[in-house]
Amino acid sequence: MSGDLVTDLSLIDRLLDVIEHDILPLTTSGVRCGNKIFGAAILRKSNRTLVIAETNNETESPLWHGETHALKRFYELARPTRPASRDCLFLATHEPCSLCLSAITWCGFDNFYYLFSHEDSGDAFAIPHDLKILKEVFTLDPGGYNAKNAYWTSYALVALVAAQPLPEQARLQARIAGLGARYQALSREYQLAKGRSDIPLP
Ligand SMILES: [Zn+2]
Repeated sequence: MSGDLVTDLSLIDRLLDVIEHDILPLTTSGVRCGNKIFGAAILRKSNRTLVIAETNNETESPLWHGETHALKRFYELARPTRPASRDCLFLATHEPCSLCLSAITWCGFDNFYYLFSHEDSGDAFAIPHDLKILKEVFTLDPGGYNAKNAYWTSYALVALVAAQPLPEQARLQARIAGLGARYQALSREYQLAKGRSDIPLP
């Protein structure tokens, strides 16, 4: 990944566009079916066009988190139409859990971007499993995994926004707050309905 790509304001807007227009509609339907609020997308690095967007589908299988479900669908694409993972950007609405961190690694992506943090998932969205699994299974504190390592570099969109000049920073923060409100509404819907699902870790 070049430094230019990382600090490019248009990339931040593009990734927020994908969350708003490609992932959120799928998640809205997914939550109605009893699934969690997490989603993901894969884009081409070259022109930032969307390859695939997906949302959590744990009512089918607890393995289908937003990220792993996107990866499953990505590898179902016919090879001629599927770009190499090295040529793609990986976007997650929420910081990937340990399962998804490993899945992204095994699939050969050299990057991922995410909007909401593990702490947000636990506090704002009442899904404590990401942090609890890191602590119980891997004895890792919050933020305890390598955000940049030999396989990939991860980028918190909130941190990229904080590095922007002030007028743009305020605009993007307002945009993220708007998305946060929409995810909060979906989260309330999920939490109200989750008692009826048989997801092992609801
Ligand atoms: Zn996950």
